Amino acid sequence: MKEQIKVMISETEVDNRISEMAAAIDKAYAGKAVHLIGILKGSVFFMCELAKKITVPVTMDFMSVSSYGDDTKSSGIVKLNKDLDESIEGKNVIVVEDILDSGRTLSYLIKLLNNRKPASMQVITLLDKPERRVIPVELYMTGFTIPDRFVVGYGLDCAQKYRNLPYIGVIEQ
Ligand code: 5GP
Ligand code: MG
Ligand code: MG
Repeated sequence: MKEQIKVMISETEVDNRISEMAAAIDKAYAGKAVHLIGILKGSVFFMCELAKKITVPVTMDFMSVSSYGDDTKSSGIVKLNKDLDESIEGKNVIVVEDILDSGRTLSYLIKLLNNRKPASMQVITLLDKPERRVIPVELYMTGFTIPDRFVVGYGLDCAQKYRNLPYIGVIEQ
């Protein structure tokens, strides 16, 4: 059967919210520089939009972890596939993630990165599914709090598909 995607959060809503988030970062980090760390691949669209809207100096780096096999179920195992290219020591780090679900991925990453002595570290996600939390994670900011639905688009995939949708949607059979 052909899959159809139902829009949950429109392109305009996502764009407006990212503008607000960038403005909040500008205000909080005025006179400083921010070092954005994107978690591949889901955060890429969010990170690029956010970075374009931030006006304080921005540097960027990426890392890749996997906590999910292919799809909708958490394995509970976090594997580091690609580490950062640069040191974060003394930098004002903002970890940029697509979605906070069980919290396993981010709690692992926060521990790992905190050991590298950043000047400060905050975590932001485009989406948050609080109902699914297994490990608590303190977010600096989130774009949207959503119900326990598997979402795709704006970087989020289902078996690598749909990342390029310019909105957040749910798959309908
Ligand atoms: P956590 O470790 O918090 O359980 O999961 C985080 C990762 O699981 C996210 O970065 C994302 O890659 C994936 N994930 C969690 N929920 C969803 C969802 O609703 N849709 C998609 N496409 N990926 C999700
Ligand atoms: Mg992710
Ligand atoms: Mg995925």
